Amino acid sequence: MQKVKLPIKIDPVRCAVKRLDYVGVVERVQFVRLAESVIDVLDDVKAELSFGTDAQGLTVMNGHAQARVSLECQRCGDAFDHQCDIEFIYTPLTTKVAEEELPEAYELIELDENGEIDLYELLEDELILSLPIAPMHAEHDCKRGGMQMSWGAIEPADERPNPFAVLNSLKNK
Ligand SMILES: [Zn+2]
Repeated sequence: MQKVKLPIKIDPVRCAVKRLDYVGVVERVQFVRLAESVIDVLDDVKAELSFGTDAQGLTVMNGHAQARVSLECQRCGDAFDHQCDIEFIYTPLTTKVAEEELPEAYELIELDENGEIDLYELLEDELILSLPIAPMHAEHDCKRGGMQMSWGAIEPADERPNPFAVLNSLKNK
């Protein structure tokens, strides 16, 4: 399948009037902040966007994006592949509707002076937010999986003399 590059800037209102759909990719080099949050971004980011108007007359942008990244397992320290799979619905911030009247699934987005949004920034924010806080292998894939029982055991490093023990012995003199 041919990879269509998605535009950086998009006018959601105009796209909604035209009922446009986009399917394409964003080159992974564009996602500098995402790359800093993970070990590596392994592929270009795939995204699908669909623009329209909902029953309330609001402009909506439905999106779905996927990115394959490499994360560091917080249990064993090894890298593992993680698939980010995000879905979102945005509506541009307008005076038409109060925030509390918005359907819960909607997120608001501000338009710039040209009535556009920065699509790459939005996708990157969503992808970063979707990353696990404590990334870990699935337990059966992890070399330390199933070793929780030994967590309480004393590791060799703990057998070194405690520097505070010296202080305590001085105090007791
Ligand atoms: Zn692991």
